[in-house]
Amino acid sequence: MKAHDGMYIGGEWRAAAGTDLIAVVDPADEQVIAHVPAGTAEDVDAAVSAAREALPVWAATPPAERAAKIAALRDVLVARKDEIAETVTAELGAPLPFSQAVHAGVPILVAGSYAELAASYAFEEKVGNSTVYAEPVGVVGAITPWNYPLHQIVAKVAPALAAGCTVVLKPAEDTPLTAQLFAEAVHEAGIPAGVFNLVTGLGPVAGQALAEHGGVDLVSFTGSTAVGKQIGATAGAAVKRVALELGGKSANVILPSADLAKAVGVGIANVMGNSGQTCSAWTRMLVHTSQYDEAVALAAEAATKYGDRIGPLVNAKQHARVRGYIEKGVAEGARLVAGGPEAPCEQGYFVSPTVFADVTPEMTIAQEEIFGPVVSIIRYEDEDDALRIANGTVYGLAGAVWAGDDAEAVAFARRMDTGQVDINGGRFNPLAPFGGYKQSGVGRELGSHGLAEYLQTKSLQF
Ligand code: NAD
Repeated sequence: MKAHDGMYIGGEWRAAAGTDLIAVVDPADEQVIAHVPAGTAEDVDAAVSAAREALPVWAATPPAERAAKIAALRDVLVARKDEIAETVTAELGAPLPFSQAVHAGVPILVAGSYAELAASYAFEEKVGNSTVYAEPVGVVGAITPWNYPLHQIVAKVAPALAAGCTVVLKPAEDTPLTAQLFAEAVHEAGIPAGVFNLVTGLGPVAGQALAEHGGVDLVSFTGSTAVGKQIGATAGAAVKRVALELGGKSANVILPSADLAKAVGVGIANVMGNSGQTCSAWTRMLVHTSQYDEAVALAAEAATKYGDRIGPLVNAKQHARVRGYIEKGVAEGARLVAGGPEAPCEQGYFVSPTVFADVTPEMTIAQEEIFGPVVSIIRYEDEDDALRIANGTVYGLAGAVWAGDDAEAVAFARRMDTGQVDINGGRFNPLAPFGGYKQSGVGRELGSHGLAEYLQTKSLQF
């Protein structure tokens, strides 16, 4: 696979300060497909300097011109969508059709939405005798995970650029090739030098240097809750803005009036997509006791049908971690009805689509984020019991409610401590704010709420 051996800083590919490399592995066959430089604090410093230098001109560029540049970036992503899909498949392992539809398709939608929002957003408003200006926060340090490599980048970079901020990106070490491709697209779109900069590297080295850098005004992080807490503490100590998109343990609540077969089928599909490596995946299926056995049979059948259609997990560590959770589920008394801890292939980090029945709300597999193709089916006695279970984790990122009519599902969803709920299988909306309650995060991404994260207000009184 094609890889750059430098960092994209100040509008050009520059040699890295150090000589260490990161090997990029194809998780489907465990072969090394490329190497990228492992950035150091020195590379981060150079990138932050370039972003600071570019900031005044970009911040003063009229929103319509910024919008045109983001539209040009969207167009490059469209033109290179096959290459994007192939790159994500090579380094993340997602099956190619999923990479084409989701890993390439969604970032194109999101980039397009910010091209429009940048042009239409009210960056200035009159409030009584004041004019209130929405101004860019400044230099953004963006740190992204590997699970949706391009989406996570675009969901930060596009609104930041729309707001007039400049950016230094530190992408996940498992998926740096997609990030390099994105940097090429930025360049091709004619976005001015220094407005976007890329430093590949390890989290505790380059990521930490970026989060701690005095020249960064806002840190936008997506990843694990453990690292998010650290980044939040660092930002707090420096009185710096921070946005955190963290883990989840979402509930798929099936009320007795719902179409059970549809709710179970969509629920299993939701978790199996991207091999369960989705922070908002509905990994806890909550079913009324009267329908429990039927739901378990439907879920087992649906999961088994996935068979070998799901891709591998991203790396050996995740592979061991997820299989460890499955073993823990068995040890704590849950009943395996599909899949299991055994690796289905000799090569590649594959895990079988796995379903557990007889899961109780306090079990480890019902509390902790597994980040693999594993669904836990939990029994509830009545609606209050379902709500208590749905809200009974430290997370609150997403969820689903199924009922005979939308009004009944909405009434339940309004009582859930969670940032996004799909009603009776609601579709993805790139303009809807995405983010968590409780330990799932701070702040929102996507749409106008995502743009507002990169703005600060100034009031002038007359
Ligand atoms: P991770 O926290 O290990 O890594 C995320 C990013 O942070 C990577 O770029 C990594 O290099 C960097 N990083 C690691 N240690 C760092 C440090 N000390 N300082 C600064 N940066 C550091 O998470 P992961 O394993 O890459 O991703 C999986 C996790 O991300 C899951 O828990 C998942 O739920 C979460 N996630 C959340 C969302 C969301 O929108 N809420 C989306 C995707 C993933």
